[in-house]
Amino acid sequence: MSAWQPHLPYNALLCRYNEIATKGRNRRLFEEHLAEGLQRILGGLGQLDFRFPHGRIFALPKAPKSVFTPADLDLLRQKAHLVPGLVSVSPGFLLNPDMEEIEHAVLQHFPTVYAAFRACTPPLELTYAMRARRSNKSFPLTSEQIERHFAELLLPERPELRLDLRHANLVMELEVRQRQAFLSFERIAGAGGLPPGTGGRVLALLSGGFDSPVACHQMMRRGCMVDFITFHSSPYTPPAYLTKICTLVRKLNECQRRGRLVAVNLLPAQLAIRDHCRSRHRTVLYRRFMIRIAALVAKDFNAMALVTGDNLGQVASQTLPNMAAINDAAPIMILRPLLTYDKLDTLAIAERIGTHAISVEPVPDSCTVFAPDDPATAVELKAILDDEASLDIPGLLKACLSGACIINVDSMRQHDYLKIHPHSDDLPETPASPACHT
Ligand code: ATP
Ligand code: MG
Repeated sequence: MSAWQPHLPYNALLCRYNEIATKGRNRRLFEEHLAEGLQRILGGLGQLDFRFPHGRIFALPKAPKSVFTPADLDLLRQKAHLVPGLVSVSPGFLLNPDMEEIEHAVLQHFPTVYAAFRACTPPLELTYAMRARRSNKSFPLTSEQIERHFAELLLPERPELRLDLRHANLVMELEVRQRQAFLSFERIAGAGGLPPGTGGRVLALLSGGFDSPVACHQMMRRGCMVDFITFHSSPYTPPAYLTKICTLVRKLNECQRRGRLVAVNLLPAQLAIRDHCRSRHRTVLYRRFMIRIAALVAKDFNAMALVTGDNLGQVASQTLPNMAAINDAAPIMILRPLLTYDKLDTLAIAERIGTHAISVEPVPDSCTVFAPDDPATAVELKAILDDEASLDIPGLLKACLSGACIINVDSMRQHDYLKIHPHSDDLPETPASPACHT
């Protein structure tokens, strides 16, 4: 983002996406999902009118509004990086493909852009380039001739401005298409990847740490619709835990069409594990229960995979042997988008997407309840299965699910999960479910 860019009365946005992803019949669907994501995330700009010329999307303010306001441009510069599937966006001027009209617009607006460029602090080297693209072959000038024309028009009057075709700080871009031309001075990066809704549904295990929210965001960047499941251990974990999770989900939902949140009390399983299994295995045994419960919910939600924030070697449960032992309990694929990330990279993404400030609040979660001092870093599956032989796994799953709730993250209202998704086939009968309080 270029902080020095002025607020010009732009009448359109040019949205660029990764064209390789849109080969063939999927193109229109892809573009519509991207437009929907743009409208949702940039909702503060008001209703947008989308046009879909080949390989691009134009977004215009809807009548009676004809240009974007300074507040719209600030919002665009702040939020464009959150839009999955968007490679970059330029606010600019949608014009007729007519040289006289284009030249008029350049002469009208370039002085304002240049003045802002010169005034920016810290100062930038005064370098200029123009990039013209001409897909309209009946336009009288070639791209190169357009670039030369404007260099000859603008540079002689500004001797301190130097042409630098490779690393210019001030870049004027012009696209001349069949029916329109688009002039811009700024490119704002999007999130890249694929638009929301093009990649299928997943269920993410969301905890209050830094990693899992970033893992959710990375899945959204690949077009997935993400629902969320979190585990608490009420009354051993405080009500503030769920408040924190709801805040995280609200933040993550800014990038997608509202994902659902399920909260499950893991305590019945944790108590049984504490009482019947070796303490060194607790972390892995907890995680195997989380995965089993999440897999049941994933089935109800038609999710094709689970997602975790696991990062290879980061903590005791995330060594290869322990992850293998956790995987063994999973009847569904587990995706771990952060597996090889450096923590600093994860934290930088968390900062950018706004989850860092929420995750940083210290609130205890389920993993800290009865946590052993010496968790095993390389469990043997056989030993884990021996421990589990003394547990009533279906009964514990049912007990945990009985306390599960679907939470509306805006109103914080909780709804009994089993009332909405009864599990008569998969699980044995147990007494009526307890209330959803934490
Ligand atoms: P995070 O920062 O996401 O909490 P972490 O580095 O603290 O991750 P762990 O606590 O070992 O790592 O958890 C690994 C993954 O397991 C988490 O990223 C998350 O996907 C899942 N997980 C752990 N605890 C919970 C929980 N209480 N509820 C839901 N998922 C959880
Ligand atoms: Mg954690």
